[in-house]
Amino acid sequence: MIRSVGKKPREAEKKPRKAARKAVARSVQSTQPAAPAPLRFATRCIQAGHSPAVGEPRILPIIQSTTYKYEDIDQVNRVMTLQEFGYKYTRTGNPTVTGFETKINLLEGGAGAVATASGQAATLLAIASIVRAGDHIMAASTLYGGTFTLFNSTLKKFGVNATFFEPDAPAREIEKLFRPETRVLFGETIGNPGLTILDFSKLSRLARQHGVPFIVDNTLATPFLCRPFQLGANIITHSATKYIDGHATSIGGVVIDGGNFDWKNGLFPEFTTPDPTYNGVIYTEKFPQSPFLFKARAQFLRDFGACLNPMNAFLFNLGLETLHLRMPRHGENALALARFLAGHARVAWVNYPGLDPTGKKRIKQFFDHENGSGILTFGMKGGVPAIRRFAQKLKVAALVVHIGDARTGVLHPASSTHAQLDEKAQRAAGITPDLVRVSVGIEDADDLIADFDQALAP
Ligand SMILES: *Cc1c(COP(=O)(O)O)cnc(C)c1O
Repeated sequence: MIRSVGKKPREAEKKPRKAARKAVARSVQSTQPAAPAPLRFATRCIQAGHSPAVGEPRILPIIQSTTYKYEDIDQVNRVMTLQEFGYKYTRTGNPTVTGFETKINLLEGGAGAVATASGQAATLLAIASIVRAGDHIMAASTLYGGTFTLFNSTLKKFGVNATFFEPDAPAREIEKLFRPETRVLFGETIGNPGLTILDFSKLSRLARQHGVPFIVDNTLATPFLCRPFQLGANIITHSATKYIDGHATSIGGVVIDGGNFDWKNGLFPEFTTPDPTYNGVIYTEKFPQSPFLFKARAQFLRDFGACLNPMNAFLFNLGLETLHLRMPRHGENALALARFLAGHARVAWVNYPGLDPTGKKRIKQFFDHENGSGILTFGMKGGVPAIRRFAQKLKVAALVVHIGDARTGVLHPASSTHAQLDEKAQRAAGITPDLVRVSVGIEDADDLIADFDQALAP
């Protein structure tokens, strides 16, 4: 991967490498069947995306370079007009970023990925690569606040309208909200902060019937818990800032193309007609396996510029190495804390998919593991003064505006992330005045329970 641009290795360097590869290939052939099984999830978490040759760094290197070298002006021309694969400028691609993109793509089982500067940029990339003024988005109402304002306010200014539907409403109710100009169906695997798990069967059927791509934000579940492409999704987005990073160090996002949508169904002319800004490339013809991916990289990253930097790609790659170890622990700790809270006299209610019957049913039906993620919410008795006291008394957990960290964090959305909304609008977004959101970390569960116990005491 690192060698894909620039000077070809000199013959003298090339030969031993070739010989070494042949030797490895021979030894693999002699001990394994002709078609070895694909590597399992945990192994992909650790090793996918970077396969160094002998003498190269074992660890994905940080290529802190904006710039790449070429053979001659003809090669630059081929790369710039998408006739040849190669890095142009780090805004549209970088070898360290490629390493991260390759790994997350192999974990989600897609056709390719584009990394972005943030989760917000990932959502915008997914939408802006498909819609134009006059088009319409169907979105589940149980959305992350930032996605809601993007759809409900900012995209409106560009002439793109959204309708928000209750994701658990019957299909025939949701059906009525589709319009002839609908071009996208959007939902989150686990809604933030309502924590509803999407009914993938119903929604993927609706998207198919209307010939529009089904885009799923898989941030809270991660590919460890749920792989939306197997459930009918066409495009997956992530805020990599959360569980992919896992340690609250970096902001970033990624969009993965399932390569499983028919862009030639007549509704998406930008995919099937020449792009004058790239010498008349037709994305469905030039890149039949994943036209969305190439269009998104070539147009969105070039024009909007919201690219991921190599240092953060390095950190996300490192985070993914332990995803398969962290996610089960987040889930176990969240379940233990949810059970403790459910039995506590000062707690009015607890919401955690692993505790509630519909949540459990959907986990069985749609998830690869019988866990929820680390996010739970609960209602605190005694109103805002009680919540203020509780948050101040926490010693192990802390008050933060973040989720998906190894450290436990709590938040009172009504007075923070959702403070700009009135109570009615807050309720519509699933936020009640008594709601406390907990992002349960991977500390010892007994320490977390003891900390919450002492903080809840009057
Ligand atoms: C945080 C989050 C986002 C936005 O991601 P940023 O990296 O903060 O820009 C999008 N979707 C969900 C579900 C999130 O939790």
